[in-house]
Amino acid sequence: MASQTGVIVQHSLNALLEDKSFLPTLHDQARQQAFTSLAAILSTPNHIHKSFLRISLDKGKIVRIPAFRVQHNDTLGPYKGGIRFHESVNEEEVVNLAALMTLKNALHEVPFGGGKGGVVINPREYSEKELHLICEKYVRYFSDIIGPDKDIPAPDVGTGDREMDWMMAEYKSINPGKTYRGSFTGKSIVNGGSLGRREATGKGVYFTFRYMLSDFLKEQQKWLTESKNKFAQTALSLADQSLKIAIQGFGNVGSIVALEAYQCTHVQNKVVAVSDRNVTLYHADGLDIPALIEFTRTNGGDLPTKEEELAENGIKAIIHHRDDILYLEVDVLFLAALEDQIHKNNMERIKAPIIVEGANAPVTGEADQYLSDKGVIIVPDILANAGGVIVSYFEWLQGRETQFYSEDEVFKLLFEKMKATMNTILPQYFGDPYPLRQNCYNHAVMKLCTVLYRQGKLY
Ligand code: GLU
Repeated sequence: MASQTGVIVQHSLNALLEDKSFLPTLHDQARQQAFTSLAAILSTPNHIHKSFLRISLDKGKIVRIPAFRVQHNDTLGPYKGGIRFHESVNEEEVVNLAALMTLKNALHEVPFGGGKGGVVINPREYSEKELHLICEKYVRYFSDIIGPDKDIPAPDVGTGDREMDWMMAEYKSINPGKTYRGSFTGKSIVNGGSLGRREATGKGVYFTFRYMLSDFLKEQQKWLTESKNKFAQTALSLADQSLKIAIQGFGNVGSIVALEAYQCTHVQNKVVAVSDRNVTLYHADGLDIPALIEFTRTNGGDLPTKEEELAENGIKAIIHHRDDILYLEVDVLFLAALEDQIHKNNMERIKAPIIVEGANAPVTGEADQYLSDKGVIIVPDILANAGGVIVSYFEWLQGRETQFYSEDEVFKLLFEKMKATMNTILPQYFGDPYPLRQNCYNHAVMKLCTVLYRQGKLY
């Protein structure tokens, strides 16, 4: 497990070890032993599978593409997590992302373990036919370890329903006669996908933020107002106000967060800035998000980069450098791009009092500590972006039951689940001085620890 996740898990273990009301029947030596075992279990993945996919490109050249599937932990159920297609994918990153999935599922009581896959390619540089081959080869190479009750991949950065459909089809042809619908989630609707799955991560991210700053605060206002907790003060200072919002990343997560914020009518929030791999677009009165989404739909997924493109589409915005999004004077900064965006070299330039992690691990450990010390609320990935895997779970269930839920039912169930987690975590967070990430990790680690202890695996 790479550094940041490992350090925080270790803090959680230390806190649990101190808490004598946890596993009270154990004497000191047995407790110490149980926690040492747990640290070993959580700090190393169960399996790292690595292969080179041999692909014949359209022009006849043969290449060998590195590919991974990491199975971190299956204490709570089959391994579960996305497959990332990105040129920067590497083993350490996939291991860390797999560990995050273990914690995310434990935190939200999703009956899955944690896994993650990766293929080292820039998908934009491959034809559709080549990508299809890469997907088929991935499933063929890892076919022994994937399956509805073993390890269930899903989309991640650079993959979507098209890739999951191809992969499921390949799984089906390798395993004739076996059940196959639950082997992949995030499939298209016609192929057994769930309504709402595509929007689930972004919707869940926005819901988390809104619930925290609105419904939850309203209900808890009395004691929070009296609390001296710095995070409670930050939250109360922004509760139910018109907020200026910036969103880094305009893909499947960022664009949905932007649309949710744009459509949110209960307060007049304004999305003043969005960004992607090329530009930041800014407008003090708020950006026309539906027009921007329409533009990306017809322009290969990218935001406008030129004045003429903006003018032609009637979009009012000023073009800034891609990274400027991070340093704007806004109330909320959503990070929905890649990891390590806020780190020790730029953390002092961040002005937003609330940061919400739509991506996995976009704030490094050092930056998290620095900003939290200043009272900045950082809503961590495993809390905020679990909508994807939660609806993946619903998709897996629907595939088993061969009965499908309406979109309204999916979102109702999703929000109930996320709300239940927040109702457990937030009272602790606003009552103690630890960052929200630490609270979430504590809860997830406690869940894993309890289950492992009951299974007799800790000694
Ligand atoms: N890739 C998403 C995540 O990081 C979804 C995983 C899933 O649905 O299994 O949470």
